Amino acid sequence: MARPLDTDTLCAHAGPPREPVVRVPHSHVTPLYQNSVFDFGSIDDSLPALSGDGYVYARLGLPNTDELGQAVAALEGADAGFATSSGMGAIASAVLSVCSAGDRVLVQSDAYGGSHALLSQDLARLGIEVVVQHVYETTELSTALPGAKAMLVESVANPLLHEPEIPALYAACKQHGVTLIVDNTFATPLRKRVLRGGGQVVVHSVTKFLGGHYDLCAGVVVGDGEVVAAARGVAARFGLMAAPFDAWLAVRGMRTLAVRMERAWTTSAALHGRVGGHPAVKRVFSAERCALFSFDVGDQQAANRVVAGFELITLSPSLGGVTTTVSHPASSSHKAMSPAQRAAAGISDGLLRISVGLESVDDLWADLERGLSAARPGS
Ligand code: PLP
Repeated sequence: MARPLDTDTLCAHAGPPREPVVRVPHSHVTPLYQNSVFDFGSIDDSLPALSGDGYVYARLGLPNTDELGQAVAALEGADAGFATSSGMGAIASAVLSVCSAGDRVLVQSDAYGGSHALLSQDLARLGIEVVVQHVYETTELSTALPGAKAMLVESVANPLLHEPEIPALYAACKQHGVTLIVDNTFATPLRKRVLRGGGQVVVHSVTKFLGGHYDLCAGVVVGDGEVVAAARGVAARFGLMAAPFDAWLAVRGMRTLAVRMERAWTTSAALHGRVGGHPAVKRVFSAERCALFSFDVGDQQAANRVVAGFELITLSPSLGGVTTTVSHPASSSHKAMSPAQRAAAGISDGLLRISVGLESVDDLWADLERGLSAARPGS
């Protein structure tokens, strides 16, 4: 009879035996693969997976991370996709898969501050020339695009919600052999399927609307197979792949994306006009079918008082979840930009950005009014 295993060995091998003794029926949802490595019966068996056909090691991708990449690719109408550990991981993999030292990358002047920081602080150090570009007038682009390698733009820009003409940008990029990388985080694929108007690469911060519950951090790169494979290679080598549980949560979040977005768009549309009409508000920034709107209350002191006056809406420097949140771009998302860059992009110290959640319009308006009525001292 085989020798019984020692307790040390039983501890180290705790868990189910390799061959399941209980036959489990087909799971309705993909189970969580919370493992870093897979086992193989022989070296020969492991070779296909080690050559990229199958799973072998978590840093190279897991079933849950691929499920997320494929779910977003399907929604964007893309050939392929993979998931990263954050939106920044997606942007870094996409840009680095295209650009090398000596290449030039253009970045939209009013894009997310973190994207500006990544490009101007890190990629510039690697010898990639970074040019901050105004993207709303195509005449300026005709002088900037020749000689560039890639351009990063947001389909709905953070935080002023301006919308560059993606098909026109794509046509101009194509003419000059420039890869257009579109960050579709704010729009979501429900509002804009940017690959339809052309474009090879779309990135998302899944942390936002796609995840939708403020409980995960992930990103995706989707697009045509070749570009995605190159970006995936960068992500695997740099260690930028998504964590399986975050990917699992994100896919669960995506199942309610359509109903969440419809509701948030409707509520946002009902609120931003009222906010714009409030005497404390100098200017409101909104876009059609958008769950975000921003407004300027003049200066940071007034912004502080508005935020302090909210009871329901929390100061949370992110966006896209089921609860309504406010952020102060100048001190959070766009902090990495210089005051001059912020001023040029139109991001004032009195600007607040609201991400509309699923609460009732009446409760949200009551809270917005409460905050806005505190904007002036003594009011
Ligand atoms: N893109 C946009 C438009 C964002 O607003 C953000 C984060 O706020 C990112 C990318 C980066 O995403 P993450 O925080 O998931 O890295």
